[in-house]
Amino acid sequence: MVNAIAVWQAAREAGGHVLLRIEDHDRTRCKAEYETAIREDLAWLGFSPDGEVPRQSERGARYAAVLAELESRGLAYPCDCSRKDIAMVSGDVFNEEARYPGRCRHRGLAPTATPARRVVMEPGIEQFNDLALGPQSQDPSTQCGDLLIRDRHGQWTYQFCVTVDDWDQRVNLVVRGEDLLSSTGRQLRLARILGRTAPPAFLHHRLIRKPGGAKLSKSDGDTGVRELRHAGLTAAQVRAMAVSHQFGAP
Ligand SMILES: [Zn+2]
Repeated sequence: MVNAIAVWQAAREAGGHVLLRIEDHDRTRCKAEYETAIREDLAWLGFSPDGEVPRQSERGARYAAVLAELESRGLAYPCDCSRKDIAMVSGDVFNEEARYPGRCRHRGLAPTATPARRVVMEPGIEQFNDLALGPQSQDPSTQCGDLLIRDRHGQWTYQFCVTVDDWDQRVNLVVRGEDLLSSTGRQLRLARILGRTAPPAFLHHRLIRKPGGAKLSKSDGDTGVRELRHAGLTAAQVRAMAVSHQFGAP
């Protein structure tokens, strides 16, 4: 949520618009009270979004159409591997990110065998110039392997939803925390596969941490801003704090 401050800052500097969307693609984790909390925090900070506010849970038909297009081009396939299968096959339980080894790519599973789908990630470097961190290069085929876009419970994944949404909303600047930096190469790759010719620019900022260095909690609808607000800070102080963390000394 503190990310919102960095977004508004960047948008004001560039004279741009700020888009809000409700990323409730994971129906098991999203609750109405989270959305209420986020909107309250935004209002408290003094921010109001521009334009419509799409919600991922209402965009299933659009995601399904994009998947159908990928399947018709032979770029997506069913995968019935469990998380455990993937960890075992890759044989590296200490790897923070389990790379999918491509087990189902040529198995020819029937579409009805599982709702899970992956998109083929061929080897290749994705380069981009992060507006805060400088030049970056990532190879999704070695990071994550073929990208999961719908899981075996039929849920669309974060990576897929945001890539389609950024395209549809014509987002040209993504401002987010550095914890998402490793996702950017695969999102750029996916966007290109989908046919987006002008990908967005990215700015990954430092995360704001609690005194002592712990990451702010997002559980139970706590958006971070709320913790600071309950600690007695004013909206102006929280905004200033976010800006100094993003642009100032560590
Ligand atoms: Zn598989």
